[in-house]
Amino acid sequence: MKEMICPNCQRKQKIQPGEYHYTESGLPNVWLIGVEIFECECGESFAFIPCIQELHKLIAHELITQENSLSGLEIRFLRKTMGLKAKDFAELLGVKNVSVSRWEHGEFSPPEPTDRFIRLFYAANMGLSEIAQELAKNIFRKPKRKQAQIIRLPIDRLSRETCMNV
Ligand SMILES: [Zn+2]
Repeated sequence: MKEMICPNCQRKQKIQPGEYHYTESGLPNVWLIGVEIFECECGESFAFIPCIQELHKLIAHELITQENSLSGLEIRFLRKTMGLKAKDFAELLGVKNVSVSRWEHGEFSPPEPTDRFIRLFYAANMGLSEIAQELAKNIFRKPKRKQAQIIRLPIDRLSRETCMNV
């Protein structure tokens, strides 16, 4: 069992695997399963998030293959995972800067064809040709507008080849 000295109160506490509400992702609905968590009686707590880049690609995969329409926060997450500035993303999509900003702030949702295009664009941009093909086959499926689903991501799904810390 791993242990660590609390940076706040200097007491020794165990580090244990558990579930972690990953709000640092900028998404309200992502839980990581099997993450190492430090919790202290003094209230100090944090999680050891491994391989953030790889992890964000897994989350993005969940987002682009979901049945729901993309939310504003999800669009922002996809854009950031691609490493694009809002201005550049708008230019690549062929929309105005203000449109991207309004989607991301939840002022209004992109039209359905744009929702699909963002997913395909992400898959193409990130070299996910198989997912791009799947998305293209599902192109007539109508996204259902409902609340964001909880994404529960087991951390052991991270690839050991690309992620050395797991
Ligand atoms: Zn403490």
